[in-house]
Amino acid sequence: MNYVFIVRYGEIFIKGKNKRLFENRLIGNIKKALHRKEIPYKMKTMRGRIFVEGESLEILDILQNTPGIVSVSAGKKCNTDIEEIGKTALELFSLLDKKPESFKVETKRVDKSYPMTSIDISKRVAEFVLKNGIGIAVDVHNPKLKIGIELRKEGAYVFCITKKGIGGLPVGVSGKVVTMLSGGIDSPVASFLMQKRGCEIFPVYFHGFPFTSDMVKEKIIKLTEKLTRFQPEITLSIVNFTPVLKELKKKSPDKLIIILMRRFMVRVAEKLTEKYNCKAIVTGDNLGQVASQTLDNLQCITDASNNLILRPLLGFDKQEIISIARRIDTYNISIEPYEDCCSLFVPKFPEIYGKLNEVREAEQPFDIDDLVNKSIELTEVLKIGGKNG
Ligand code: ATP
Ligand code: MG
Repeated sequence: MNYVFIVRYGEIFIKGKNKRLFENRLIGNIKKALHRKEIPYKMKTMRGRIFVEGESLEILDILQNTPGIVSVSAGKKCNTDIEEIGKTALELFSLLDKKPESFKVETKRVDKSYPMTSIDISKRVAEFVLKNGIGIAVDVHNPKLKIGIELRKEGAYVFCITKKGIGGLPVGVSGKVVTMLSGGIDSPVASFLMQKRGCEIFPVYFHGFPFTSDMVKEKIIKLTEKLTRFQPEITLSIVNFTPVLKELKKKSPDKLIIILMRRFMVRVAEKLTEKYNCKAIVTGDNLGQVASQTLDNLQCITDASNNLILRPLLGFDKQEIISIARRIDTYNISIEPYEDCCSLFVPKFPEIYGKLNEVREAEQPFDIDDLVNKSIELTEVLKIGGKNG
């Protein structure tokens, strides 16, 4: 167990009384993520920080992607011999993204019985690094890299890397939400942003086979797998939407078909919020991105449900969404060329300024309850992630 990771989680302190609850959730989430990858570890909390020890550097990646963590320092434990400390520092250098221009050593002696002063230890380690190192200079006033040494009874801890985490809040502390996950670029990003703000997500995909290829289903599973980096276990619902699509094709006025389709989706999603005890429905809608996403149309869609509908991407530019999609590694999957059912049904002249009375009127010929219930009956539930995911 020679790597040591110090986890910092700033935002949790804002929450005052809830602090313990938040800490426990964060610890539970870290444990689940490590357990899932079967990584052995030891963990303890001390003065508002979490210490994780383990053999694997994969732990660093897991911690960096756990919502609620602001930064992670990675270090190594070794024995207290100066040469050992110096070698360990050099080993840690190899984990840096780029070679620093200068460094400084700072030592803290927790074990006061150690036979050298902190300043002497720092000097000796710096000399070792200079002699055996990668050609970087000492700069005690403005170093680009600090090598921190902590001398304890059980050994020396050497730190020189601090990486940013994704911040936010631990998944679960803000409750649960159903996210409408299509195969596009936007909805995985919307789902991630909710995870980042502490929501456990329950994605739902409306599958329209044979209108859409079964490949989209695979794509949705792959996207959900990517989202398990932030929430180790995800329950994915795949709704067989074909009966609804067939009815829509038969009975909906062409120009309203997308709005009516979305209203059906929202109604089914509402049933899922009841099933999973969720507080809201989340979509990847973005104002004005396509003709259907106007305030008028969004209002027509919102009207179909009493649920809170959240649209975290509403004010984002496409480029901003794409850069998050790349960061969470969903972009390349999203741009695979399989279309979801909406794109296939888009009429030549879709309604841009949907009017509620017209939309409600157009729904008269549908047996809404029956179609919604049928969709729920035909829903496949998959557990993605978890220990064997
Ligand atoms: P995305 O990139 O998320 O597909 P988009 O810009 O293509 O978004 P639309 O296809 O108009 O937007 O869909 C808007 C939102 O409606 C999506 O972000 C998603 O939340 C939801 N949605 C659309 N189609 C589906 C589907 N087949 N299953 C689940 N949700 C869907
Ligand atoms: Mg789409």
